[in-house]
Amino acid sequence: MLVVMQSHATEEQVRAVCSKIESFGFRAHPIPGAQRTAIGITGNEGAFEAGTLEEMPGVGEVIRVSKPYKLVSRDLKPDNTVIRFPRTHVAIGGSEIVVMAGPCSIESRDQALTIGEQVSRAGAHFFRGGAYKPRTSPYSFQGLGEEGLKILSEVRDRFGLLIVTEAVDNESLELVEEYADMIQIGARNMQNFSLLKRAGRSRKPVLLKRGMSATLEELLMAAEYVMSEGNYNVALCERGVRTFADHTRNTLDLSLVPAVQRLSHLPILVDPSHGTGKRNKVLPMGRAAIAAGADGLIVEVHHDPDRALSDGPQSILPDQFATLMHETRQIAAVLHRGVAAPVSAARVLVSQEASRPAVAR
Ligand code: PEP
Ligand code: MN
Repeated sequence: MLVVMQSHATEEQVRAVCSKIESFGFRAHPIPGAQRTAIGITGNEGAFEAGTLEEMPGVGEVIRVSKPYKLVSRDLKPDNTVIRFPRTHVAIGGSEIVVMAGPCSIESRDQALTIGEQVSRAGAHFFRGGAYKPRTSPYSFQGLGEEGLKILSEVRDRFGLLIVTEAVDNESLELVEEYADMIQIGARNMQNFSLLKRAGRSRKPVLLKRGMSATLEELLMAAEYVMSEGNYNVALCERGVRTFADHTRNTLDLSLVPAVQRLSHLPILVDPSHGTGKRNKVLPMGRAAIAAGADGLIVEVHHDPDRALSDGPQSILPDQFATLMHETRQIAAVLHRGVAAPVSAARVLVSQEASRPAVAR
């Protein structure tokens, strides 16, 4: 159920409706919008009479939501969600496109600083790189763990880049939320419900990647898990799905972009690296993703991909990344969108914080 408040409803009236909802054992999620506040109701203890709420002051209408997802739905929030990052100008889901780039895994301090410098020079906003790697084989490189997170922090402080990195379980999430600006939940964990709920209790935004055989509804329901715990800063990411096609690692499903935008207010990014698995296909599909209306890209970049410890064949070279940034700016202009200013502009703001412990960011 969804309560749409009148446009002139007061904060006190919104609070009274939330208290009433909670007195019935449900959770109230007040979501302010440009025109009015809507209050999502979640909980699994059965329905209660809409009439109880309809009569309360400030209430416009009470709508039954038939779709299984509620908080992710445009019915609740017609305006796009814009995820802002404190002390920077970077926002995901607004008119400006945001680009995340870096190696698949953090392999060493030197590797991360080399790539960090190159992607920052080309205009990336976020540095990506796994410190915890969900690998198909237990014998493959599993990531540097907390040491990798410390290296990521150093990349942020040196180059002013925001950090996005994956948490693979509740334990790594505790550390990732301390060091990173955004928590990545990977394809393999898209339906790890206890991890999703834990991410929902974090103060850090979540980048939720589509499971490799997940439908649109399953992806939205996974985001609903995060939001149901009170974290409304969720960005979705298309990263390719399994099909019979074998000329690529996965089949990048770009039609997910407009499909998400129709049903949900959440931002949607595209990962053309995992989506294709092949270096020579990353730029064309990255360009196509922007043309399809994605809010941003997440791309694997490596200065020495032949020696990368993971995903070398799909990692583009720094020069190719610079070309992709250039082309992204041009395609964005056609769509009357821009690309967020390079983070160097935010560097001063971020470095002022450098002396603070990572947890306070
Ligand atoms: C990654 O981003 O390196 C990664 C493992 O992605 P995915 O979860 O989409 O496979
Ligand atoms: Mn990878």
